[in-house]
Amino acid sequence: MALIVKKFGGSSLATPEHIKKIAKRIVEDKQKNNSIVVVVSASGDTTDDLISMAKKMHPNPPHREMDMLLSTGEIVSSSLMAMAIDNLKEKAVSLTGPQIGIMTDSAHTRASIRKVKTERIKKELQKGNIVVVAGFQGKDDCDEITTLGRGGSDATATALAIALKADVCEIFTDVEGIYTSDPRVVKDAKKIKIISYEEMLEIASSGAQVMQSRSIELASKYKLKLHVRSSFNKKEGTIIMEECESMEKVFVRGVVIAKNEARVTIHNVPNKPGIAAYIFGKIGKEKINVDMIIQSSDHQGKSDISFTVNEESLAQTLEVMERAREHLKAGKVSSDSDIGKIAIVGVGMKTNSGIAGKMFEALAKANINIEMITTSEIRISCAIRRNLCDKAVKVLHKEFELGK
Ligand code: ADP
Ligand code: ASP
Ligand code: MG
Repeated sequence: MALIVKKFGGSSLATPEHIKKIAKRIVEDKQKNNSIVVVVSASGDTTDDLISMAKKMHPNPPHREMDMLLSTGEIVSSSLMAMAIDNLKEKAVSLTGPQIGIMTDSAHTRASIRKVKTERIKKELQKGNIVVVAGFQGKDDCDEITTLGRGGSDATATALAIALKADVCEIFTDVEGIYTSDPRVVKDAKKIKIISYEEMLEIASSGAQVMQSRSIELASKYKLKLHVRSSFNKKEGTIIMEECESMEKVFVRGVVIAKNEARVTIHNVPNKPGIAAYIFGKIGKEKINVDMIIQSSDHQGKSDISFTVNEESLAQTLEVMERAREHLKAGKVSSDSDIGKIAIVGVGMKTNSGIAGKMFEALAKANINIEMITTSEIRISCAIRRNLCDKAVKVLHKEFELGK
């Protein structure tokens, strides 16, 4: 008997028919004498729809109220799934994140999990129930409902698998695993059999939607293997696990495309120690993720600082920057939300030089202008015009022969 955590993403639960089909699959696994914990996302575009409803009420809705609203999407799908399972004559119970005791910090809309209580789930499993958990949510120490950032059901599943010491953690989605690039954009993208936590984390944090980066951080910390696979067939997907030697032979594992980026620039800040610390300290306090940062050269004791954030964080970032601008007596704050990002990732880059040159040359040949660059040991990212992202990702996928 195994304890299995299975997470189903929103597109896999888009209609009542989808939910019923998945319920059948869950029941089959339960009948093989397994204990099953299911984590569900909000169905289809529910979260996006709720966000646009909120924006009709308020241009930058209070984050606490956003969490009240967004957490409902997952609650709907968890109760529907429990009903569908019950209809197949298996016992099921749906539970919200707060009911279980998924304890988080208080950073509304992008909270981090601090602790997962397991008593309630264990009790329900002992009763023979399939436990269906509403993903993406928890509560803080004041019983306030929090959500875990976009894609946060992946983190719920991972954290539960770790806390329950599950034998298997499966992430079911609308593609068959992790590919060398987004298979919806790059038609000859190849499914990757095994990928290291390190590479997956870079791919996720570069903006590939397929896994939330927090979930990979958690899995990596506790050495939990994740199996990313299709909701619609039984083919083996991709295993995310510790790095092994053979992985280093591949220079570039994948090309990532992230279109929803925005650049923010604060102009004419004093060019002296402590300024960057002040600006990014304020942004960090709001838990806004910053990726690329560049500072212009000194002009009469002043410089411009530009950085990229996810477009979703733009309104909040601009509010923070406006306050920083006043405090620093800097020039104006400007933004550009017409940019995207492409990145190449691979552990093989650690031991191979010349990859960056090859990337830049391929982009230059395709007449794609690079506006910002950042690198890590195993990743090179470039900001480019948003409308060139699809072209750029195809060029790089071909250049590094990932379709072969
Ligand atoms: P879910 O609803 O199951 O959480 P997501 O929409 O969050 O699914 O993520 C799955 C999507 O991620 C796929 O449909 C695919 O378009 C996209 N994606 C981006 N990059 C990759 C990649 N390298 N491999 C697989 N899917 C990717
Ligand atoms: N429903 C949330 C989102 O769309 C969480 C998730 O799908 O994992 O981001
Ligand atoms: Mg997702």
